[in-house]
Amino acid sequence: MTALSVEGLTVHYGGVCAVRDLSFEVPAGEAIGVIGANGAGKTSTLKAVMGLIPRKVGKLRLGDLDLSRTSSRDMVRHGIGYVPEGRHVFAGLPVEKNLLLGAYARKWNAETRATLAEVYELFPVLGEMRHRLAGALSGGQQQMLAIGRALMSRPRLLLLDEPSMGLSPKLVEDILAVLLRLRGEGLSLLLVEQNAKLTFEATSSCLVVENGEVAMRDTSEKLRHDPRVRQIYLGL
Ligand code: ATP
Repeated sequence: MTALSVEGLTVHYGGVCAVRDLSFEVPAGEAIGVIGANGAGKTSTLKAVMGLIPRKVGKLRLGDLDLSRTSSRDMVRHGIGYVPEGRHVFAGLPVEKNLLLGAYARKWNAETRATLAEVYELFPVLGEMRHRLAGALSGGQQQMLAIGRALMSRPRLLLLDEPSMGLSPKLVEDILAVLLRLRGEGLSLLLVEQNAKLTFEATSSCLVVENGEVAMRDTSEKLRHDPRVRQIYLGL
């Protein structure tokens, strides 16, 4: 079963082509990575999948659903969660209010309350700080909050844009543990990262994008041993 299937995705900003005819799949229950340098087109790819920026796409399917003309709001309703680059938590709102905003497409009922309890179980620190303003959280805690907020919509597929950005090595390990746990629970993941080491550990296979195109695609295990990848993306 395929969770997400994308064919022929192209993004232009004026005359600049940021993503060129990109095709990939996320098999159900698997984690797929997209690595690449600054400006390679990773963020544009995720935003384009979510329908947050104008794009051309030949085919965009979530399971059996054709989402090639679906608005970003309905993407969430259909089961795609999105954790944006830079977290974008609502700093002036309490932690719990931020989480509830992630459930905007759902009714406030026993099921939604159960999801909130699951998020607090996954991130105990968010439970402890539920009444604190999100702006008072550390960078790592804000990243947990951004992931928790996306989980509040009960996604089938989670898109994550550079969750390790700006975090200490210890917190990157914490993020890895969270991703492995979510994957273990059957959630499908599409992880965009500059941190290739984290990505190879969190995913089963990866695309390497350069200038908006797929330069390489293989299992994460093979890529992490590839001499070119080791030199460019792992600095070895
Ligand atoms: P980063 O790691 O910095 O987020 P990225 O791989 O996510 O990089 P994108 O942000 O998708 O790359 O950018 C791809 C290309 O599109 C770059 O050349 C970038 O300068 C350009 N670009 C991105 N956003 C815009 C925009 N709003 N207007 C014009 N050009 C843009």
